[in-house]
Amino acid sequence: SASSSALPEHIRARVHDHPCYSAEAHHHFARMHVAVAPACNIQCNYCNRKFDCANESRPGVVSEKLTPEQAATKVLAVAARIPQLSVVGIAGPGDALANPEKTFRTFDLIKAAAPDLRLCLSTNGLALPDHVERIRDLGVDHVTITINMVDPEVGARIYPWIYYRHKRFHGVEAARILHERQMLGLERLVAAGVLVKVNSVMIPGINDAHLVAVNAAVKARGAFLHNIMPLISDPAHGTHFGLTGQRGPTPEELKTLQDRCEGDMQLMRHCRQCRADAVGMLGEDRGGEFGMDSIAAIA
Ligand code: SF4
Ligand code: SF4
Repeated sequence: SASSSALPEHIRARVHDHPCYSAEAHHHFARMHVAVAPACNIQCNYCNRKFDCANESRPGVVSEKLTPEQAATKVLAVAARIPQLSVVGIAGPGDALANPEKTFRTFDLIKAAAPDLRLCLSTNGLALPDHVERIRDLGVDHVTITINMVDPEVGARIYPWIYYRHKRFHGVEAARILHERQMLGLERLVAAGVLVKVNSVMIPGINDAHLVAVNAAVKARGAFLHNIMPLISDPAHGTHFGLTGQRGPTPEELKTLQDRCEGDMQLMRHCRQCRADAVGMLGEDRGGEFGMDSIAAIA
């Protein structure tokens, strides 16, 4: 399992109380996701819009969608009941930055009411370069970008389309724009002093061997952690990949790839692909205790 001991000291100091980034911290600190971001600006072949974004979240479960005000109320109620709560993230159910008003309003409210909580968000990166200043000014210190390719030819097999600057793009052109925006967003975040984790979804026969090149590209641009996750392909969920019979990697294939990528950069092996509305210590999900019905009863 990943240990933060190999991280550089200045990064370790910033993640010691973050349950996702420190193998020690995940026994002592809790995180929660608030599901305030329903829309998305791209289409991934592994996505099913009926369920949560697979960027950061286990697909197959629909989150309760919250307004920013409801989300802030829920955060305060959870913080009162789970004192180990240290991090609040926005990871879906769509893309946090395809819903910038909702995402940033939620962060503003949380920051005003509970300034000690750390904020994080995850995104596919398409809109990211436009929001780096706001992310930095809010004090969001961790951003996760899902990067599955650095070659648009590979990307065209993963992303059928993107919606960018009020226009829909398809195929290799769409993947090239997404790739350029992801790299630009990553570079700008690192330059702004924001910690960046990269998630990749391993898709056998499509980007499995290619993820070694992705690892080198994100490492060179200053991402501090790379989290390679297995494709969860389930025809019952109706994903494009599921319908074409695309399989996910075996545990051995995943481990072999992770071993090939592990060098001077940390790979994250304990990510649980939590739901977009997960609550609690890593590996536990107390989200069911904190539905809006029960929050309304507490508040
Ligand atoms: Fe689905 Fe997330 Fe991909 Fe958007 S970024 S299409 S919500 S998996
Ligand atoms: Fe942490 Fe991964 Fe869960 Fe996000 S999805 S809260 S990074 S363990």
